[in-house]
Amino acid sequence: MKIGIMGAAGRMGRMLVAAVNAAQGGEVIGGVEAESHPDLGADLGALADIGPLGVVLTSDVEALFQTADVVVDFTVPFVTAQNAGLAQKTNTKMVIGTTGLDDDQQQAIANASKTVAMVQAANYSVGVNVLMGLVEQTARILPEQYDIEVLEMHHHHKIDAPSGTALALGQAAADGRGVNLNDVADKVRDGNVGARRQGDIGFATLRGGDVVGDHTVMFAGPGERVEITHKAASREVFANGAVRAALWAGNQTPGLYSMQDVLGF
Ligand code: NAD
Repeated sequence: MKIGIMGAAGRMGRMLVAAVNAAQGGEVIGGVEAESHPDLGADLGALADIGPLGVVLTSDVEALFQTADVVVDFTVPFVTAQNAGLAQKTNTKMVIGTTGLDDDQQQAIANASKTVAMVQAANYSVGVNVLMGLVEQTARILPEQYDIEVLEMHHHHKIDAPSGTALALGQAAADGRGVNLNDVADKVRDGNVGARRQGDIGFATLRGGDVVGDHTVMFAGPGERVEITHKAASREVFANGAVRAALWAGNQTPGLYSMQDVLGF
């Protein structure tokens, strides 16, 4: 499978180059960065610290989509949304890891998925996808008296909050309760905000250091508290999951798929 990497010099991009190269059945055929990126022209393998691959970093996104079977995109929301249009134009499948997309950007992905297979997940780790299932089940079983709070911590470079994974966990909890997340989400508390509304799903965001991604969903009930936690120690778990998704996407018909689909949950 010919795999192209968008944002190939980024934190995730470098891990993805290494993960594709290590995977059976996948080949890195190109990597693209923004036009102003200082590493343009560098060997992708050297950037990923795995030795030269003979493939250089370019800014030619059209060529990447024309050559690749699947493009893996962990960049920024507006770029990912533009790329969804290119995926449609060139009939190239995409695996999308970028988080923090707004409604219009999300719509661009939904439109593309009508004609080409797109996989999108806020978190490509197998462990987090297990966590999603546990959260949904727990929210279904426990009554509304159990206050649900989603706590996350990430490194200080992260630009969106709450994290895409925290929002996906909130969605899993809302699904379990049979409510609409938008109606119950409480994402910011500052000042005299009053008592907690029963049924709300609260979010708390911590940023600092080099934390790869910690998520805890709490069910705080009368006299007891259930806490379900996942801690990612390395970005490798996301990269390996995304490569698994890319190899899977290569054989899929048009549609918008999740990591749960890839894992067959
Ligand atoms: P990063 O800033 O290190 O990497 C993003 C890269 O995209 C940068 O190198 C940047 O130069 C590049 N980029 C920007 N504009 C571009 C353009 N026009 N063309 C090509 N490349 C361009 O960030 P990161 O930590 O690698 O995270 C990237 C995204 O992935 C974020 O949205 C993050 O939340 C998300 N993420 C998702 C998962 C998951 O499992 N779904 C895991 C980790 C990170």
